[in-house]
Amino acid sequence: MAVGRLRLKPLSYDFPPWRPPSEAGSLLLRVTRGCTWNRCTFCSLYKNVTFQRRPLEEVKSDIDKAASLYRAEVRTVFIGDSNSPSMPVRDFEEILNCLYAVFPHVERVTSYARSKTLQKKPLDELLRLRTAGLTRLHVGLETGSRDLLEKIKKGATPEDMIEGCIKAKEAGFELSVYVLLGLGGEELSSAHARDTAGVLNRIDPHFIRVRTLQPQPGSQLYEDMQAGLFIKASPETVLKEQRALIETLTVSSQYLSDHITNFVPVEGRLPGDKQAMLDALDRFIADFPQDEALQARCARKNELARL
Ligand code: SF4
Repeated sequence: MAVGRLRLKPLSYDFPPWRPPSEAGSLLLRVTRGCTWNRCTFCSLYKNVTFQRRPLEEVKSDIDKAASLYRAEVRTVFIGDSNSPSMPVRDFEEILNCLYAVFPHVERVTSYARSKTLQKKPLDELLRLRTAGLTRLHVGLETGSRDLLEKIKKGATPEDMIEGCIKAKEAGFELSVYVLLGLGGEELSSAHARDTAGVLNRIDPHFIRVRTLQPQPGSQLYEDMQAGLFIKASPETVLKEQRALIETLTVSSQYLSDHITNFVPVEGRLPGDKQAMLDALDRFIADFPQDEALQARCARKNELARL
């Protein structure tokens, strides 16, 4: 039996509204609502949600509801919303203990985390969370460009990103880092690729996951685009940007393109698959001007809204 939403919905189960694509088969558990930061200009995910921690008893009640349906099936769990490690470590430990007591077969428990939160959190608290069974953190780097990080109001510098992510690795977490292709638009594409590779090379995360900017209604960046203040990168620019990014990477990460917004599926284990990935991108770039199917696919992606 697949773990899903349909059978939990009638039990008034509270779902995190967003999860990484790689958590499609996971039990979704909501321990906080919204985002502690909620200011990134490209993001509309939690704009109408006031950040709050859910009472522990509510979370435990949801764990019991899920167990009544899926006790034997659950192998992976995603904990939402956007920055669960911001909660007091003792509370998070209690939730993890309850989760493992009820679902003894769980093999992976993951959460989104802000790099700034990881940077500020003492290493011993991260070690406690890891020991309690939180196994993987999904961190939105978006870009390694200092100017661009400021521009998008990410609330973290490249140094914050590096420090927070390296600390998470030291604590023993698997680290999944997200990059937002096209974030610099036409104007800052080269700097975005170069500086993002630079930061990733310092972090060397277990996973690099790319997605492609499709400004969403409700975000500041969407308003800027509508007003002509932000010029979206063309598909060809994004393909070249991705090529420059991969070419500059010296990491030992799994590079994944597991998001619906991406124009082309280029993936592999670095550094071994690097040349094959570059060759694939070179073919897409060379074919683009005359490949009508590829152009149509990119056009469809550019129309995606409410992701
Ligand atoms: S991108 Fe992440 S940190 Fe920024 S506002 Fe959205 S959820 Fe919050």
